[in-house]
Amino acid sequence: MQYISTRGGMAPQTFSQVLLSGLAPDGGLAMCETYPQVTGAELDAWRKLSYAELAFEVIRKFATDIPEADLKSIIQKTYTEAVFGTADITPVKTLAPNLHVLALSNGPTLAFKDMAMQLLGNLFEYTLGKTNAQLNILGATSGDTGSAAEYAMRGKKGIKVFMLSPHEKMSPFQTAQMFSLQDPNIFNIAVKGVFDDCQDMVKAVSNDHSFKANHQIGTVNSINWARVVAQVVYYFKGYLAVTTDSSQKVSFSVPSGNFGNICAGHIARQMGLPIDKLILATNENDVLDEFFRTGVYRVRSSAETQQTSSPSMDISKASNFERFIFDLTGRDAKQTAELFRKVDQEGGFDLSGTELFAKIQSYGFVSGRSSHDDRVKTIKQVWDTYGMEVDTHTADGIKVALEKRDPAVPVLCLETALPAKFEATMIEALGRKPARPAAYENIEALPQRFEVMDASVEQIQAFIDQHTR
Ligand SMILES: *Cc1c(COP(=O)(O)O)cnc(C)c1O
Repeated sequence: MQYISTRGGMAPQTFSQVLLSGLAPDGGLAMCETYPQVTGAELDAWRKLSYAELAFEVIRKFATDIPEADLKSIIQKTYTEAVFGTADITPVKTLAPNLHVLALSNGPTLAFKDMAMQLLGNLFEYTLGKTNAQLNILGATSGDTGSAAEYAMRGKKGIKVFMLSPHEKMSPFQTAQMFSLQDPNIFNIAVKGVFDDCQDMVKAVSNDHSFKANHQIGTVNSINWARVVAQVVYYFKGYLAVTTDSSQKVSFSVPSGNFGNICAGHIARQMGLPIDKLILATNENDVLDEFFRTGVYRVRSSAETQQTSSPSMDISKASNFERFIFDLTGRDAKQTAELFRKVDQEGGFDLSGTELFAKIQSYGFVSGRSSHDDRVKTIKQVWDTYGMEVDTHTADGIKVALEKRDPAVPVLCLETALPAKFEATMIEALGRKPARPAAYENIEALPQRFEVMDASVEQIQAFIDQHTR
């Protein structure tokens, strides 16, 4: 399997090559040259597999340059009960006939990002180990991504993580999750500023090409191809859990921000998984809902981007969306490059009334959005009716699923985080604190390890330099 860029300007690369790279040199995103196909017979044969065995079957179709025995052991040590809390890894909870929740948030940071990031940590360590190379991951976070990256990379040979976060702006739980890590290869940097300042510092360092090369700087953001592939697996797992044979169809409802999670669902569907609808749910930051309803893709400014009670979906543009547009154009790299040049220059593009927009139906996408009040209502309704606590992001997805689903088709609502991470809104909805897994009982009381720094590119460069010698 070879990988190409959505903008057509990259010589074909292997999985291991795209694993460690960010944007393609032409500004596009890496994509597999073709989608590997899964037949109905193969799907039915996968019913008896464990999560790790299934993950191996799916991922081996993409990571063809990693020897199978190596890939198998990397996957086996990633998806374990010790790391993900249950032998099932992603258990299904049935709320009502044809209405299910696929639990993806039982990893170390209590959000679905662990599903992909844990694998990435092991793949990075393996790939770097082959050449004795080093990687210094620089990132900015306002919560979920940073902690998932740190828990995946802690203690890994050849890897250091420098994670910037806005000083005193994350929730006490999120802060404790990251700052309580004592591993010497993890550096938490609390920047005196806001999230955008952190992100600007990362961009400035990444654009300093000589510093970047001399210090082996890399990133783990949501456009990483291996993260997307790792997420494809649980669409298969969820499908197999609620069907008995491969003639049946199911739908998925996906709380969406950067279009990474639902892009994996799109890929699973292109591989032949019998998915009826991919139900895309946004919060008030409805860039994607607007596109799927109207054909207009209009990125928002930071001033227009709202802070909501489902903060991990507060995005101004959807960084993985280009992968879907590439497919929608019939994999026309020239047209894709043209559309995303418009995004950069004019802030968006308009496909309404075009043949392309008419084709969207055939990809199964439908969309909707929720407000803060909708989420609070949904959290209460799901608790009162089904006795299950769901977090604000999962509530976005359930709200839109109930509106858009076909009641005759099973729908799996992806649970993207646990309620314990979002106490304030849970108290508003249920009048009490949500359940917290035992291991996190007193996390705020643990000793914390972090550096406070000004929002200064020179300071972060000096810090990285000093700690990578
Ligand atoms: C990251 C995240 C999302 C959004 O996922 P995308 O892949 O960016 O669409 C939704 N919910 C939670 C809890 C997240 O952490």
